[in-house]
Amino acid sequence: MRNVIIVGSGCAGNTAAVYAARANLKPLVLIGHEPGGQLSITTEVENFPGFPDGIQGPDLVENMKKQAERFGAEYLHAKVTAADLSKRPFRIQIDGEWHETKTLIIASGASARWLGLPNEQKLIGHGVSSCATCDGFFYRGKKIMVIGGGDTAMEEATFLTRFGSEVVIVHRREEFRASKIMLDRARANPKIKFLLNTVVEDIHDVAKGEVTGVTLRNVVTGEVEQRDVDGFFVAIGHIPNTQPFVGQIDLDPDGYITSKGGARTNIEGVFHAGDVEDRIYRQAITAAGAGCKAAIECERFLEANGHH
Ligand code: NAP
Repeated sequence: MRNVIIVGSGCAGNTAAVYAARANLKPLVLIGHEPGGQLSITTEVENFPGFPDGIQGPDLVENMKKQAERFGAEYLHAKVTAADLSKRPFRIQIDGEWHETKTLIIASGASARWLGLPNEQKLIGHGVSSCATCDGFFYRGKKIMVIGGGDTAMEEATFLTRFGSEVVIVHRREEFRASKIMLDRARANPKIKFLLNTVVEDIHDVAKGEVTGVTLRNVVTGEVEQRDVDGFFVAIGHIPNTQPFVGQIDLDPDGYITSKGGARTNIEGVFHAGDVEDRIYRQAITAAGAGCKAAIECERFLEANGHH
């Protein structure tokens, strides 16, 4: 029987682990399918307080893990496949095996959203990517396309100009969700071109096993065009990782956990931390703060329920 299982190893999960471990709760942290969370797929982090010269995202998250381990947190390369939160102790299925825990901190984050084109999934890793910082390097001197009109698309397109011969941003509308500063930065970059009111109809070429081009459609004129592309980066937002908890925890229509104040969910003893609940701030520092809150609430809950 565990005192606390922490689902997720990003900023939120790791910070919850530091606090829970220092409270002597010996947390078990499930690393999940994206170890280290979003920070592990970024480069320089310049806005995490305490690092005046910035720090690499993977280093920051690895430091947090080491810090938690120093105080007795245990990490497991595994993910939750099912959960029974109907009574305490909670039962969590981890890679097919059931474990019991007195409390649960869900810090499983949110994963990249895909367009849903049949060829998209077949070409992931062969020209289709959701992570510019992971895969940009492979497209040195090549033609790159980025899909989306939010901050992520602007940031990824700007980053990818370090590698590509050209970077084309394809966005389905004329208005942008991106903040003005990020949009202006992309607009000012001579390597970036915009194709607006445009959607992707298909990605080629599955037979060759790599991305060679796309079919685009202008949603205003109806015009269809083919375009040569080598690297196809999807940057259209994220989906919260709450699948194992559907039907048990209160979620909003998009699948994000609905907070009951602080780090509380609708189930006593189950807490949330980070992007799995936060669709507004989504920052490393806010996720870390949320992880801290979840661990403190978890500790108080255990104490109130007779844990020594
Ligand atoms: P987002 O703001 O939700 O933007 C998603 C974009 O993808 C939108 O332009 C949307 O188009 C488009 N899109 C969604 N589904 C689509 C589909 N099926 N087909 C085509 N286009 C589709 O997501 P995000 O850019 O990942 O940003 C998420 C949050 O993180 C935001 O709060 C953002 O400010 C923040 N962020 C901040 C930074 C930074 O400050 N450094 C960097 C990255 C992200 P519509 O507009 O038409 O819906």
